[in-house]
Amino acid sequence: MNITNDRFKIVRAEHEGRVVFYLQGDIDEDAIFNQIANETGEVIINWKGVTSINSCGVRNWVNFIKTMSDRTIYYIECPPLIVKQMNMIPSFLGTATVYSVYVPYVCDNCDAEKLVLVTAEKFGSVEETIQCDQCQSPQMELDGHPKHYFTFGRAK
Ligand SMILES: [Zn+2]
Repeated sequence: MNITNDRFKIVRAEHEGRVVFYLQGDIDEDAIFNQIANETGEVIINWKGVTSINSCGVRNWVNFIKTMSDRTIYYIECPPLIVKQMNMIPSFLGTATVYSVYVPYVCDNCDAEKLVLVTAEKFGSVEETIQCDQCQSPQMELDGHPKHYFTFGRAK
């Protein structure tokens, strides 16, 4: 574990011989990613724990990921706030491949919210409506337009 500041940290872990970096907290002008560059070989970035990213943080990451263009990088478990950045700013993705993202759903009936993890082979065929766990309404809808949510997938 390497604490770069009190708002953001990167935790390195190994799963079945693959290295995963868990990004956690708020990414802003003070976020440092050098720890990731020091790793040799394939790199997996888990975005699940990122709670916010501001414009300085985006610039920070874009500059960093540019330096990693010769590496094999996967983004996994991207929350909606990261998917939004990938859709608006293609360089946020760099040469990385998106393996999985969280898709937000909101219930029409009780306003419950849910994030569903979707892997790359399903990006083109994501469910627009699912059943609500809270009230059992079948009208829990994808928050936004699926085509827009997966814009990043078509940019490559
Ligand atoms: Zn509901």
